[in-house]
Amino acid sequence: MRIELSCKLCGSARFDYPLVITDDAEISCSHCGRKVGTVAEIQAQLIEQITSDDAKHS
Ligand SMILES: [Zn+2]
Repeated sequence: MRIELSCKLCGSARFDYPLVITDDAEISCSHCGRKVGTVAEIQAQLIEQITSDDAKHS
């Protein structure tokens, strides 16, 4: 299983995380500084990827 999370602007997979992780804390790309979304949004994206990956294999 492969989880991909990358900046839509520059393609970097490195992100700056807030010191305090809350659902509405924003994560930004450490390469270009673009905000990639809130912790809750990123978690939802990852869960979606895991779920769609499972669907492909079943
Ligand atoms: Zn970026």
